[in-house]
Amino acid sequence: MSELINILKECEDLAFDLHFTAARKWKAEKAGRILTGYLPVYVPREIIHAAGGLPVGIMGAGDRKQIIKGDAYYQSYICHLPRGVIEMALDDNLDGFDGFIFPAICDCIRNLSGMFKLSKKGSFQRYFDYPQNFDPLTGGTFYREEMQKLIDDMVKINGAQVTTDKLNKAIALYNRNRELIETIYNIRQEYPWRLSAVDTYHILRAGLVIPVERHNEMLERVVQIISKERGNPMDNIRVVVTGSFCEQPPIGLIKSIEMAGCYIVDDDFMLGSRFIKSAVDDATADPLGALTAAYITQSDFASFYYDIGNPKGKRLAQLVKRRKADGVIFSAASFCDPALLDRPQMQKECDEAGIPHINFQYHESTGQFKVIKEQAGTFSDSIKLWV
Ligand code: SF4
Repeated sequence: MSELINILKECEDLAFDLHFTAARKWKAEKAGRILTGYLPVYVPREIIHAAGGLPVGIMGAGDRKQIIKGDAYYQSYICHLPRGVIEMALDDNLDGFDGFIFPAICDCIRNLSGMFKLSKKGSFQRYFDYPQNFDPLTGGTFYREEMQKLIDDMVKINGAQVTTDKLNKAIALYNRNRELIETIYNIRQEYPWRLSAVDTYHILRAGLVIPVERHNEMLERVVQIISKERGNPMDNIRVVVTGSFCEQPPIGLIKSIEMAGCYIVDDDFMLGSRFIKSAVDDATADPLGALTAAYITQSDFASFYYDIGNPKGKRLAQLVKRRKADGVIFSAASFCDPALLDRPQMQKECDEAGIPHINFQYHESTGQFKVIKEQAGTFSDSIKLWV
């Protein structure tokens, strides 16, 4: 068991190392390697891998950095994440990064990409526009062009040849990564006491700052260890947490939900690592086509895009059913427009499906969890007593 404790400690350290020491070390070990930072939520990390890069997820500063300069860049009525990220950029936290990707999830991230450009951070600052149209010929063609622009950005730095073979190998590695993560979630669905939600979170977040090969090794061991019984079952309800896909909830919040009597059997905390829901073709003559098809036809529901033919609320209700959950906790960052605008419709779908739900908001450096713990505890008790 001490092996798992060691892995968990390593993951926790990696997850919250705001100087990205492991990533910098990886880059220093070989000429031609580049670090490509990306903001939430999803980027096709396979193309960065194939271009000789390490994709590094920048999930915000959490409660580990005092925001001073960041507050001067943004008005008060927006979420917290962009302030923490600009603070990191203005300090030395992101030095050594070669470029940055800003996925098109909201105006705050769009503005952040402009700030990085004006501050000349990295050799490229790419605003990565997701298609909102899921027709393969329209949205698909557009998405493919966006990926190509990213590849061009990276090869300008290191002159890498992004070949079919390298792309297929990268796809295979990330397929394995997603498969192992899904296996952990499936084990937790049946036996949530074997690995806490906080530990699961640390394991997934660590994977954002280390090579996928190493992360896969860690995940393999975690799967082996939690495939055997450990821990003690508790009389908890089972919940799905949704709305936390970008600015990350503080660890204390996740812990409070668990301590209040709720097993978190699914969530969208590290949505980017789980966004593609099934294996991508890794033996194809057209890997960019395979990655495009994955985005168009195999992606998860998310508040940062319109999905008219496949409503998010219905997909949430399906997830609740699949995970045999008792209820939903809508947990969004304060001022997070995408999550908060989607919430009423998703709550309506939950009501229609008879799924109990509660909601609250947080910011990444929230330090007080008493109210949230009481709310989650009351939710748990009410389901145990009356549902
Ligand atoms: S938390 Fe919401 S509003 Fe803030 S940057 Fe992320 S998606 Fe945008």
